[in-house]
Amino acid sequence: MKKISVLGSTGSIGTQTLDVARANNYCVRALAANNSVELLANQAREFSPEIVCIGNKNMLSKLKDALNGTSCKIVCGMDGLCEIASMCDVDIMVNALVGMIGLLPTLTAIDNKTDIALANKETLVTGGELVINKARENNVKIYPVDSEHSAIFQCLQGNDGNKISKIILTASGGPFFGKTKAELKNVTIAQALNHPNWSMGKKITIDSATLMNKGLEFIEAKWLFGLDPSQIEIVVHRQSVVHSAVEFADNSVIAQLGVPDMKIPIQYALTYPNRLKCDVKKLSLTDYGNLTFEKPDFETFDCLRACIDAIKLGGTYPCIVNAVNEEAVAMFLDEKISFLRIGELSLAALKEFTKCSVSSYEDIIKAEKEARRFVAETA
Ligand code: MG
Repeated sequence: MKKISVLGSTGSIGTQTLDVARANNYCVRALAANNSVELLANQAREFSPEIVCIGNKNMLSKLKDALNGTSCKIVCGMDGLCEIASMCDVDIMVNALVGMIGLLPTLTAIDNKTDIALANKETLVTGGELVINKARENNVKIYPVDSEHSAIFQCLQGNDGNKISKIILTASGGPFFGKTKAELKNVTIAQALNHPNWSMGKKITIDSATLMNKGLEFIEAKWLFGLDPSQIEIVVHRQSVVHSAVEFADNSVIAQLGVPDMKIPIQYALTYPNRLKCDVKKLSLTDYGNLTFEKPDFETFDCLRACIDAIKLGGTYPCIVNAVNEEAVAMFLDEKISFLRIGELSLAALKEFTKCSVSSYEDIIKAEKEARRFVAETA
């Protein structure tokens, strides 16, 4: 029986991970969520994990009440997340946390030699070099959960030793594809949260509307697959059927297709190298009829440009752009800044900061704090 722990168990990826766990009779040894006490407690009662963690310390007593009479050990905050990441005898830790709080638990799991199913983009965006090097030293596997990276990972199977010449990272284009900056001036929160193909959490849905999400995925792909930024091409594909593709030395391109449903990549990360039955709709290409592919609009979507510039510049720049975006998205959702301001701040941060290299977790945290302060002062 596979043993897993799930960080971010009440979010969209987390609940679908537990669907897979339920369908395949996995042993869930730990659960963690940030705020959703009620759902977390229900999950704990169903799966009987040894450890349950609540991120928000103010919710701790509520969780204790909700789990009264169970034998779960209840922990909280970053210490709690890292306690889960340090557990022995876990086959895979699923990291589905949102934001760069996911980085330290990832590093801790790698130190603990636990394989990771990674849905937390910010882990590789902010600490890519550190994480990848550490994983290699400890012989820890990182299985991508993001649909695009899972697609690339799937395309690479059976191609050991064959050099990737390029990857084609597909993007849905989000709800504002084809719009100009002038048309996006007065975008409301509801409009930005209305994604055409994928149903996801709030933060990632806004990131999809600004194309920040694709920028983060660009950086993630660079680290996961050991590529130079020049080897990654972003292509807008509105139907989200081709989840990404790999071009090899002979110019043959292999793509992975499916209906847009995160359950496939989540399950593959957990069952790799096996493919098990999965409760998702079958893909019917004739139902779609046409699949379209277009160039992304780097002029309108500042966040996308900021991410690509940041990874080309290297060092702490990707971390800075990510932290600026996290702050800016929170402010947009709070109705404190406009939609376009998110991208403006991301680009402005690249000019504001000078290059610093990343050799430790502390370097990343220092850059993060400075970036958040920059947003507080300039937004
Ligand atoms: Mg994705």
